[in-house]
Amino acid sequence: MNRGHARDLLDQVLGGVTANEDPLRHVATLPARDGEHADWPTWVPDPLVERLRESGIDRPWAHQVAAADLARAGQHVVIATGTASGKSLAYQLPVLAGLSEDPRATALYLSPTKALGADQLRAAVELSERDVRPAAYDGDTPQEDREWVRAHSRWVFTNPDMLHLGVLPRHQRWARFLRRLSFVVVDECHTYRGLFGSHVAVVLRRLSRIAARYGASPVFVLASATSADPQESATRLTGRECVAVDRDTAPRGERVVALWEPPLSSDGETGGAAPSRRSAGAEAARILTDLVVAGARTLVFVRSRVGAELASLHARDALAEVDAGLAERVAAYRSGYLPEERRELEGALASGELLGLATTSALELGIDIAGLDAVVVAGYPGTRASFWQQAGRAGRAGQSSLVVFVARDDPMDTYLVHHPEALLGAPVESTVLDPANPHVLAPQLACAAAELPLTPDCLPALAGGQAETVLAGLVEAGVVRRRPTGWYWTHRERPHDQVDIRGSGGEQVVVVEGDTGRLLGTVAPETACSSVHPGAVYLHRGESFVVDELDLDEHLALVHAEAPDWSTFPRTATDVVVVEEERRLEYPGGLTVGFGQVDVISQVVGYLRRGPSGAVLDQVPLDLPSRTLRTRAVWYSLSEDLVRGVAPGGAGLDPARVPGALHAAEHAAIGLLPLFATCDRWDIGGVSTVVHEHTGEATVFVHDGHPGGAGFAERGFSALMPWLAATREAITSCECSAGCPSCVQSPKCGNGNEPLDKAGAVVVLDLVLSCLRRSGSPLVAPLAAANEGG
Ligand SMILES: [Zn+2]
Ligand SMILES: [Zn+2]
Repeated sequence: MNRGHARDLLDQVLGGVTANEDPLRHVATLPARDGEHADWPTWVPDPLVERLRESGIDRPWAHQVAAADLARAGQHVVIATGTASGKSLAYQLPVLAGLSEDPRATALYLSPTKALGADQLRAAVELSERDVRPAAYDGDTPQEDREWVRAHSRWVFTNPDMLHLGVLPRHQRWARFLRRLSFVVVDECHTYRGLFGSHVAVVLRRLSRIAARYGASPVFVLASATSADPQESATRLTGRECVAVDRDTAPRGERVVALWEPPLSSDGETGGAAPSRRSAGAEAARILTDLVVAGARTLVFVRSRVGAELASLHARDALAEVDAGLAERVAAYRSGYLPEERRELEGALASGELLGLATTSALELGIDIAGLDAVVVAGYPGTRASFWQQAGRAGRAGQSSLVVFVARDDPMDTYLVHHPEALLGAPVESTVLDPANPHVLAPQLACAAAELPLTPDCLPALAGGQAETVLAGLVEAGVVRRRPTGWYWTHRERPHDQVDIRGSGGEQVVVVEGDTGRLLGTVAPETACSSVHPGAVYLHRGESFVVDELDLDEHLALVHAEAPDWSTFPRTATDVVVVEEERRLEYPGGLTVGFGQVDVISQVVGYLRRGPSGAVLDQVPLDLPSRTLRTRAVWYSLSEDLVRGVAPGGAGLDPARVPGALHAAEHAAIGLLPLFATCDRWDIGGVSTVVHEHTGEATVFVHDGHPGGAGFAERGFSALMPWLAATREAITSCECSAGCPSCVQSPKCGNGNEPLDKAGAVVVLDLVLSCLRRSGSPLVAPLAAANEGG
């Protein structure tokens, strides 16, 4: 492909735009970069160099050698460079050299997804000497093969889940492997964030403790997408001091990045419904159609499973009118597919049989799809790291490629297409995780105690300063027993099976077609009530189903094929109870900002059915259990004087407008927090009330969506001023008059987006920001009294 090719593709896509529409907000051209080679390190055995050359790697890049040299010297290292920059070689060199020198040495490879692990295993098998016997050990490994792996493999490929559930609890059976454990490879380590990341951090510390027991002290080699502070993140994840190699020396072709905002829909809507933009999925489908017609191999990333289905469906329909053969070359891919279905699609894209693929972020990791001409990112994937990871699928060395970011109806997306520097100019965010979260530490310490009794001197490395407090709680609850020599697990059953490190709160709910017994997919238990409640419309591979029954005890949703003329929207009642206020700042003028532990109590109470135009047909009540989530929240409250405009500094709001103003400000703030914390809006939630029980004032809460919190609300607390300033900016830069999904409406609102007052939200945020700006130093209020209410 020529250098100008990406521009041609963009022209092609712009050619499909109607004359009165102007969706292109910004075009940036990222220049091509030359590569920088290095020589093979002298310590790499000749046969390995030979095999690498045969596999197509003539010479390594400088960053690969820099990281490999550090690991070789025994230094824990993280390599954080772009997609397709060859991070694998950085650990393959030291690991394979080490395994070849010491015939009893072993290594462990961890990946967040099976697909990625399988790819890396294939590469390792090709590069290894015969006696290394690289092998997978995960949930799919047949029971009869597991013993062979434990006895013979010197390079085991697994995931944190299996390390937690299968290796550490039965470490005696792994004695041969652990005794000579020399390297631990943690691939795609930036994906270990939030609650999952916090769990994995302790699992890795458990591994270090058990390995030490067998006399091993392995070197950690981590691979990460580009991130703001890889050294700090890797050190926090492993509990070992890591050094970062983050100067990417791989060559890169020119990349054209287009920021695209679908136009507001012009068809006059009735009933005062908010104007809406053409959906990002529909717009992406149109762009995909144009690119496939132009012969460009294109990957479309869509936020939801349903969206991926619809985007491929729409593109196929449009292509069928041009050329039936082209329609066949577009498909959808998502994580809920069964393994056979997934492999089939991966193979078709690899062979070029498929030209266009619409996918959720399931494909973001792990599959090395080379030579794509274009990537369409429909909806901000939550972090700049993810955005660049997805964009990085386009183009190979020397080739120009096109990346189109299509904004969804969402305040964050609106903000980004109007502020390209926030997307393209800002550094990638660092990873947020908190291994000291007591909701993580308590179950993790129980597992550790069951593996090997805990002694006071092993605690600092395992669990930091929180350990003794958390253990005291476990002793009191009868989970572990305190003896003079340490803390012991004295129950018969191991605790591991009860500890879900993905934080998905338990077993997945299985979606089954009632008539045929066909398994359609799975749904996370915490979202089951809102996504597969009785009466919900459920889409799978473009087919439509309606849910007949949700059995939460059996983790089963029964559905039947039906394509009704409506879609369904759950209604949720949510309340926040402050359990412990950990921090509070009081600002002159009547603003108070708090942070602490809360209970979020939510219940799906019914659902709305909406017709094709979006009009509400009816509301159906549901009787489902409520769910309590103990987590952390940031909140701000405004005194009555401040809201009314009696206090200096504000115009004030009519009392009747306050509920809609707070609600709108809450939605927009949830939409913008991902700009400051490594989360997406589905990781967090919010509640706003005119008079909250705890504060006695008009209050907006934004809370973490995971038990114990994952650090997101805390980021909001520490970045309150820039966060709320960006929130205000996102609302005012949307050209709608009364609020739309691009500014103050939320796709996950449990109240059907009512009431919402866009102008009122700006007033509320102005009041808050004026208090924040006027005061250099807030009063730090004593918290002792506040905590008694919990
Ligand atoms: Zn708007
Ligand atoms: Zn809402």
